[in-house]
Order: sequence, then C-alpha cells, then structure tokens
Amino acid sequence: MDGNDGGLTALSPAVRKFLSQPKQVLINGKWQSAQSGKTFEVFNPANGEIIGHAAACEKDDVDLAVRAARKAFDEGPWRRMTASERGRIVWKIGDLILKYAEDLAQLESLDNGKPIAVARAADVLLAADLFHYMAGWATKIEGSTIPLSVPYTPGAEYHAYTRKEPIGVVGQIIPWNFPLLMAAWKLGPVLTTGCTVVLKLAEETPMSGLRLAEICQEAGVPDGVLNVLTGFGEPCGAPLAAHPLVDKIAFTGSTEVGKLIVKAASHDLKKLSLELGGKSPNIILDDADLDIAIPGAASAIFFNQGQCCAAGSRLFVQEKIYDKVMDGIAKAARGIKVGPGLDPSTQMGPLVSQIQFDRVSGFLKSGADDGAKALTGGKRIGDRGYFLEPTVLVDTTEKMSVYQDEIFGPVVTATPFKELDDDLIRRANDTVFGLASGIYSTNASKIHRLASRLRAGTVWVNCYNIFDAALPFGGYKQSGWGREMGQEVLKNYLETKSVCISL
Ligand code: ADP
Repeated sequence: MDGNDGGLTALSPAVRKFLSQPKQVLINGKWQSAQSGKTFEVFNPANGEIIGHAAACEKDDVDLAVRAARKAFDEGPWRRMTASERGRIVWKIGDLILKYAEDLAQLESLDNGKPIAVARAADVLLAADLFHYMAGWATKIEGSTIPLSVPYTPGAEYHAYTRKEPIGVVGQIIPWNFPLLMAAWKLGPVLTTGCTVVLKLAEETPMSGLRLAEICQEAGVPDGVLNVLTGFGEPCGAPLAAHPLVDKIAFTGSTEVGKLIVKAASHDLKKLSLELGGKSPNIILDDADLDIAIPGAASAIFFNQGQCCAAGSRLFVQEKIYDKVMDGIAKAARGIKVGPGLDPSTQMGPLVSQIQFDRVSGFLKSGADDGAKALTGGKRIGDRGYFLEPTVLVDTTEKMSVYQDEIFGPVVTATPFKELDDDLIRRANDTVFGLASGIYSTNASKIHRLASRLRAGTVWVNCYNIFDAALPFGGYKQSGWGREMGQEVLKNYLETKSVCISL
C-alpha cells in the first residue's frame, strides 16, 4: 500500500471545499469554535495523513449546547409546529441527503476508510431512507382513549385518554463505524417526535455528521433544535451524559462505555437507550445452500472491515460440511480486494484508526498465544494506513478472548458442531452479548425452531447485515436497552401522559 494517496485525487470539488474550511460545531443555529479554541486532528485511515481539524469541545461547549436545546424545547417553535410541518422538514433532510449523496459518500469513505461503493449503496441510501421513513411517523404518533372502571367510585363517569409527548432534551452519542448512518438513526426519530438534541459525533469520524448538520439547517430545522458537537469521550461525551438539563441519553458504542453512560446518567435518573456491542453467532446447517451460505458468512464478518456491532464473528458450521465451508470462506477472504476506500475497486478498506488497528492486532496476538490458528489472514498489509488481512481463526476454545470478546475487526472464529441440539444453542448463546445472529439452512422447521431460541435482537436467515429503516434493531443482554428504527424507536423519545377527566 506504499505510495497510496489515500484516494484524495478522487474527491469532488465540493468535498475539497468542505474539507478546506475550518471545522466548527453547531450550537443554537450558529457555527462556532470550541470555547477553549482547541482543535484535534482528523486522519485518513488509508494513509494516516491529516485531512482536517475539528473543534475539541469540552464541558463549557456541552453546557452551551444543552442550554440552547433546552430553550428550543421549552420556548421555541419546534413543539408548536404541526406534526405535518415537522414531518416535512424531516422528509426534506432525506431529500437533501440524496441530493448531496456523492459528496457524503466521498466524505464518509475518506474519513472512515470504508469502500466508496459501500458508502454510496449502504450508508448514504440508508440514511436518506431513514429520514423518509421517520417523516411518515410524525403525523401518526397517537395516544388512545381508554375505558375506565374505577371500582371504588361506582356510578362515576370518566373520560380518559393518553397523549404521546416528546421526552424533551436528548443527548446523543455515536460511534465511528457508520458515522452518517448512526447520526441518521439517532436524528430521524428525535426530530420526528419533536424533541431537541445535542449530538456528539465520534472523534475519529466527525466529517459527515458536520455536513449532515448543515443539511438539517438547509432543510429548515430551527435554531437550537439540533446542536452538533465534536470532541473526545471523557471531556465531551461524559459531561453530556451527566448534564442535569438533559432528559434522555441515546448512546451507540462499546458495552464498556455504555456502562459508564449508565453511571453518569444515574444520579438524576435520565432515561436511557443503549445500542452496544456484539459477538454474534452465525450458524450454517448441513442442509444450507452453500452458494448462499459461504459468501454470506464471509460478508457477515468482513463487511465494513468487521467494524459492525452486528458482525457475524462466531461462525458455527455443521461437521459434515465444515471442511468445504472453511475452504470456501478462506478462499473468499483471500479474494477480497483490500485498499483505500476511495479506490472504486476496493472491497475492504483500512481499519478506522491506529488505536483500532492496535486493538485488533492485540486480539490476534492473544489468539495466537492461546493456540488459535489463522486459516487465512492475520497480518498487516503494507506499512502505511491501517490495513489488515481478512482473518479466519480456527482451533479456538470457548475460554479464549478472541472467542468471547468483541474484536470489531475482520476476524471470525470458526468451530464445527455435530447436531442442531441444546448444546449448539447453548454455545451460540454463550456470550454476554445478544445483538444479532445468523442461520443458513433450507429447512423451514429447523430455521424457526432455532430462530426462537437464539437470544439476540435480530436473526438473519439465509442473509446477513440486512438493515431497513422499518425493522427494529437492538440487543438482548449486554448488547443494549431499547431498539433503533421501526415504530419501536419512537418509544425511546416519547413520554406517555394519561389524562383522566371526571364527567
Ligand atoms: P468504540 O470502542 O467503538 O470507539 P466507544 O464506545 O469508545 O466506541 O465510543 C463511542 C462514542 O462514545 C464516541 O463518540 C466516544 O467519544 C464516546 N465516549 C467514549 N467515552 C465516553 C464517556 N466516558 N462518556 C461519554 N461518551 C464517551
């Protein structure tokens, strides 16, 4: 990968212009630097070079942003707007994402490292679709009328109904693996429900979220309703999670930081939704169509460089087909073209940062020390940028850290199993996580039996990593609280008020 320019030559004039401007943050409708004036460097993961600087927000900036969101919620026009007007603004954000799709895809690929083809087809389209989907809900958030019996007031009559009201000021904290899409998952429902928000972007990948904030302004989101900050976890995320004027925190990131968020939010019992880590089992039964299962299992782990909370990172293959499947997956892994995200022929990009590269490399070393064998991969590619070979580990045991912990890189562990029995189900569920899972089979009865017993928020059957704005996504166990997307996500941002009237 020597001599790569990280794909910079491929950038459009609009993206170049965006990158050349100083990166500020959005507070109360105004773009401004951090109060301290501090900035931090943003890197191109394809070659480690600096692509820009972002504002290093801290407690003071968080306070300004939260106060702006509080004022916009309590006094601003946002809540007085009709649901239809609000829905139209949310819809327009989706339209504008499509209008600027190519620029957003390029920014995303440059900042995060992901292949441009993926950024175009997945991140940008899904982000637009999320806003379009959510916009439809704005006019359909309804309470109900409820017949009361009240046994201790015989003969009295009541009219009772519920109202669904926005929860208030929401602090949102997102990670770097799908920077634009995670911002969309969070902002779509928060705006639709009439809340106001302070969104903290991930320090590794602030670019597309800042561009999205401009788009939201262009779509007509009023000043103060959306405030967007850049900064690190401790100085910026932590004070947001603890701020007394914030009603609710929505967090996506590691389970470890999720637990810190719970602590930070606990002193005033803020409402919380959490979308956390995973170590998802992907199970291939011996009746599976291997033309679907083999590429499916490979993409389940290697998509987005394995940096997906839902990645199919623990593969279970029935004994009879184990050798054939492993051959196929190893071949698929070796055939993946790894390169800078902005090169249109790239199928897998670099990991997002030096820190992430070191983390994943540490797991590979610990696996090797524990006796795991790399059927393929396991090594760095080149000496610039954070490129790692797609890796398949075999001979792993249940005790090993590579088997139990979320690696968040292109590394899958593969183990055989004899029968679809209780032991397989125990092994599949034997992790602290419960985010996603996969089944490859052609036997409908086995599929349904297995799907009901997997302790995971999503079960993909004969497919993997299929996301849709309408389909709820979230975790059992330590993978989280609440759901993103679909009608379910609205619950994260609404309070239910019961109104009871004596007639
Ligand atoms: P990852 O391991 O994927 O980088 P993290 O959970 O570390 O994920 O980070 C996800 C988001 O949480 C980022 O925006 C990061 O800045 C933020 N974050 C990290 N530490 C804290 C913290 N102590 N409090 C609040 N936010 C944090």
